[in-house]
Amino acid sequence: MRANRHAGCRPASTAAPTASPTASTAAAGGIASAGIARLMAEIVETETGDGAAARTWLARAADAPADAAWICGACGTGHARWQALCGQCGAFDRIGWTARPRVAEPVTALPTVPEKPPTA
Ligand SMILES: [Zn+2]
Repeated sequence: MRANRHAGCRPASTAAPTASPTASTAAAGGIASAGIARLMAEIVETETGDGAAARTWLARAADAPADAAWICGACGTGHARWQALCGQCGAFDRIGWTARPRVAEPVTALPTVPEKPPTA
């Protein structure tokens, strides 16, 4: 007879975050990266089906630091894997595993579209 190795495991629902959205925003600085918070949202949604808890994790992802990636130190282009030469600018040995920079200024307005199409 095969022993159940997970007999002592607690239900996955106990792993769901119980903090309020306000508390989760305050705690977002403690998340290692946005990718980890997105993974937690997927795990919570899959394991518990708790959409509210998953959305809380997605909100944390929005406030968390960006994931690290292979970034060219010369031009800032991201690469899927390390390589000696940057495919964008051709710099040698400038690609390193660093955090992606965050956008400094938020988008405040969408570009305006004329109400009437130009007449020919
Ligand atoms: Zn480059």
